[in-house]
Amino acid sequence: MKEPQDWKQLKLVGGQPCLDFVNTVDRDGDQYLQDWFRDAADVIGWAQYVELVSSAQAKEWLRQVQQQPAQSAKFFNQAIQLREALYRIFSAFAVKRSQAAEDLQLLNTLLSEMQQHLRFVAIASSFTWEWTEANQLEFILWQIARSTTDLLTSSDCDRLRECAGVGCGWVFLDFSRNRSRRWCDMEDCGNRAKANRHYDRKRKT
Ligand SMILES: [Zn+2]
Repeated sequence: MKEPQDWKQLKLVGGQPCLDFVNTVDRDGDQYLQDWFRDAADVIGWAQYVELVSSAQAKEWLRQVQQQPAQSAKFFNQAIQLREALYRIFSAFAVKRSQAAEDLQLLNTLLSEMQQHLRFVAIASSFTWEWTEANQLEFILWQIARSTTDLLTSSDCDRLRECAGVGCGWVFLDFSRNRSRRWCDMEDCGNRAKANRHYDRKRKT
């Protein structure tokens, strides 16, 4: 029996759902150090934690994934593939490297699927997008895809950074005044880097 995740321990530093989605794993190059996603139930738990879905909807999906292991494994695989593609897209964009065509292709496939579940509707004196079939598990991934394109087409996209911490790989938006933020979180990676520098200095003297 696996332990339920204590989501409150996972910091949300990305500032956007698509960035926090990528930040569910700590990386050292190609290696995963800590991964919050062990199965589909964890992806659902995370979506509820970041308030992409209601607790009632999450509960219903958790019941579904238990009953349908094949469908649940497929969804999990899709979520991990999306997370990997987005990590590569954000990480490359942060240092102005070009994007891999297959990563953009994966995102585009998901976006065209997403588009089939959006309707443009009139509300009061304006218009909005409205989700249809928000009760499908893929709704989580559609929202991540939407959050990604919203971010990358916004003026904030220039603020995208990857944490300089070793064994981190988290992505975030740098809103510091002189745009010099290097760490996902000063308490974690920032202090660890400082402590290392301090240690190096001491060793040299
Ligand atoms: Zn970090």
